Order: sequence, then structure tokens, then C-alpha cells
Amino acid sequence: MNEDIQKLHIQAGLVIGQEKICGKKINYATEDKAAAYAEQMNSKASTRNTLEGYPCAFCQGWHVGKEMSRSELESYLLD
Ligand SMILES: [Zn+2]
Repeated sequence: MNEDIQKLHIQAGLVIGQEKICGKKINYATEDKAAAYAEQMNSKASTRNTLEGYPCAFCQGWHVGKEMSRSELESYLLD
């Protein structure tokens, strides 16, 4: 994930809030670990939404959640 998108994730995360972005989610120490888990989930037929690893604005770790496009992330920063 490029730095630009990482920054957007952090900024959008602060707007979305800790409960949804961090909360009880599994904390991965590295982008690679979160990405590997997301890929594993995405290969399952039961996974409906494409998942991705993202940097957490609150705990400095990485979590796995529904993939968000740049425009989706940016939409949180417009208010
Ligand atoms: Zn977190």
C-alpha cells in the first residue's frame, strides 16, 4: 500500500472512530501480516466483500477490514 493511501486511512480512521476502526479487531504488527490474512479471507467463497489490511490510527498496528477506495476514504475528510 503506498504512503499516500496509508495517510488517507489514518485520517479517515480518526473521523470514523476508534470503535469501528480498531476496537476489538485483531492487531497485526506489520502490513505484510494483515495483507496475508486479508488475501486468505478473500480467497474464500464465503467472503462477500473484498478485504484489505489497513494501518490503524489508534493503536499503530494493522487491521483487516472491507476494502476502501481512495474516493471512499476521501469522502470522510470532506466534512
Ligand atoms: Zn487499532
